[in-house]
Amino acid sequence: MKALQIVKWKSAPELREVPDPEPGPGELVIRVGAAGACGSDLHLLDEWDSGTLNNVEPPFTLGHENAGWIDSLGVGVTGFEVGQPVAVYGPWGCGTCKNCRLSMENYCLNLANLKAWGGGLGFNGGMAEKLLVPSSRLVVPLGDLEPIKAAPLSDAGLTPYHAIKRSMHLLGAGSSVVVIGAGGGLGHMAVQILRAMTPANIIAVDTRESGLKLAKDHGAHHGVLSSDENAAAEILDLTGGNGAEVVLDLVGANPTLKLAAECVGLGGHLTIVGIAGGTLPVSYFSQKFEVSIATTYWGSVLELMEVLALAERGLIEAQITQFTLDEAPAMYDKLRAGKVVGRAVVVPG
Ligand SMILES: [Zn+2]
Ligand SMILES: [Zn+2]
Repeated sequence: MKALQIVKWKSAPELREVPDPEPGPGELVIRVGAAGACGSDLHLLDEWDSGTLNNVEPPFTLGHENAGWIDSLGVGVTGFEVGQPVAVYGPWGCGTCKNCRLSMENYCLNLANLKAWGGGLGFNGGMAEKLLVPSSRLVVPLGDLEPIKAAPLSDAGLTPYHAIKRSMHLLGAGSSVVVIGAGGGLGHMAVQILRAMTPANIIAVDTRESGLKLAKDHGAHHGVLSSDENAAAEILDLTGGNGAEVVLDLVGANPTLKLAAECVGLGGHLTIVGIAGGTLPVSYFSQKFEVSIATTYWGSVLELMEVLALAERGLIEAQITQFTLDEAPAMYDKLRAGKVVGRAVVVPG
């Protein structure tokens, strides 16, 4: 079968012919319906090496945001049927530690000892016709949702969902939330999740006018261009001068972190979701009192089920730009240039 693989660190991905996967005992093979392309793939392609990712050496297939249909079941797998549509949970933990037992494999306590982090993150991912999944605990039945609609939810939906859920107690009536990078794949989902789950005043921030438009089309109440030197003042104005209860930085670069710290209010949450690797200097005086700063990574299997439930009820929907597997290498160039609207999704079939 064809697969889009990273062959060498810090180089462009290549379309290659690879053997079809066969499920061993306890494993499943998924016929891929769709595989999303994530901003983090660009960091993986451009900046990472084996030192970043548990000493993994390429080649491996990209694509950590996947959904499709069960193609075959390994010996001993029960509870699923061939042909059944499923979403694939992306972070593959050890399955036995305390956090994995709570379905929070994103925070597996044995992460440092795992062979890799998941499909597309060291193991072969979904940018191929088929995907091997090591355990049935990592797939979630889809019900009526089509795989192409579900794939982006497994990361672009789940990651902001988790970040928002931990701050729900701050997002009551009269509250404000700033979403930095609101016009991106995660951002336009974050805005919809906030609208579905909270009455908060949503302030979208993006570098592009088109990004602000996308965020507003999906429910943001205000849009602020981050390139504007008055961005922080404008946001403070929109929050009545106090700053926002919650700031989600879906980028995580130096300028976005600086802006985030300037506009988070007293007692607020500044949550760094984006992995651009910027630095936020923290001192007693660098932000308002009792601000909590946290990083988050993905979400739990249970939260993925909740995200799918929101989509099944029609409350959230990823805006998708579709590509074939042959177009996938060029798709990453478009993503890098900021020219993809919503989420880029590869449909291999
Ligand atoms: Zn991702
Ligand atoms: Zn674990």
